[in-house]
Amino acid sequence: MNILVVGGAGYVGSHAVQAIQAAGHSVWVYDNLSMGHRGAVPEDRLIVGDLIDQPLLQSVLVKHQIDAVMHFAACALVGESVKNPAKYYQNNVVATLSLLEAMRATDVKRFIFSSTTATYGIPQTIPITEQEPQLPINPYGFTKLVIERALADYAHAYGFAYAALRYFNAAGAAADGSIGEDHTPESHLIPIVLQVALGQRQQITVFGNDYNTPDGTCIRDYVHVEDLASAHLKALDHLQPGQGIQLNLGTGRGTSVREVIEACRRVTGHPIPEVLGERRPGDPDALVADASQAHTVIGWQPQYMDIERIVETAWGWHRAHPQGYNAPVTD
Ligand code: UDP
Repeated sequence: MNILVVGGAGYVGSHAVQAIQAAGHSVWVYDNLSMGHRGAVPEDRLIVGDLIDQPLLQSVLVKHQIDAVMHFAACALVGESVKNPAKYYQNNVVATLSLLEAMRATDVKRFIFSSTTATYGIPQTIPITEQEPQLPINPYGFTKLVIERALADYAHAYGFAYAALRYFNAAGAAADGSIGEDHTPESHLIPIVLQVALGQRQQITVFGNDYNTPDGTCIRDYVHVEDLASAHLKALDHLQPGQGIQLNLGTGRGTSVREVIEACRRVTGHPIPEVLGERRPGDPDALVADASQAHTVIGWQPQYMDIERIVETAWGWHRAHPQGYNAPVTD
């Protein structure tokens, strides 16, 4: 297949690009490099462009005879979405609808969408199944839900074949150390803790220890980025015209903030000083997937079930690339 990976220079997208190539498909990356990194993708596969550039997008879809689109290009920070919702509605809704229009115009109808656990809001039941009501509590989650709904309508009306993959907490890096996580500014727990181990930060601030969890810190389901990538390939094999599949992608195991920090201490051998901070607004106590549907429907099973192994891959990347993709060239 010829696959266009939109946002393929970003964190999850770049790992999907590697998985697609390893599976023997032809891959093209479409990315405006606003958040993605040139160094994360093969140079000869990269097309630099904006999602709202309809003429360019349509010409790419036709020229490369694209069979399927995977869409990773989105803003994904809850706090930022509350402060600057316009950015989220523009990037995550308007630009995605523009992409869908370009696909409709060129008759490309296979689509894999990066959705999120944030579409569930505060879940009533843990672990979370796909039947959990989707009641997002922030603009980020809502923008993703809007596109899930649009896709259901596009499938019904135009014969789109799609999968909406609801990620839990993407984590880790490529096992071979070639690519990894590099956000500026960084806000995610594991990379921040590892930056402490690298001496780039003094300490980690734990955002609240009075949650309704055994150790009082928030519980999340950390799923390895290469496992997320493999789920996209499996989903591709199960797309049906006029139908959509919605799947949670997580391990089904919850890990608290304190347990993540302890795993990082074991992996890095660094004491990693921590301080207690305020709760971060909008953080639910626990988000853990029931990912059994992904196993049943597309045969997906995460290979990384242990937080320490996930952290090991992240540490391999951060230690080798302490400045991320922008490492100064040395000779
Ligand atoms: N967290 C923390 N300190 C930090 C960053 C994150 O305690 O410096 C907590 C955060 O409150 C949440 C968990 O770590 O409970 C995971 O946060 P992250 O931002 O990595 O992912 P999110 O769950 O927001 O997608």
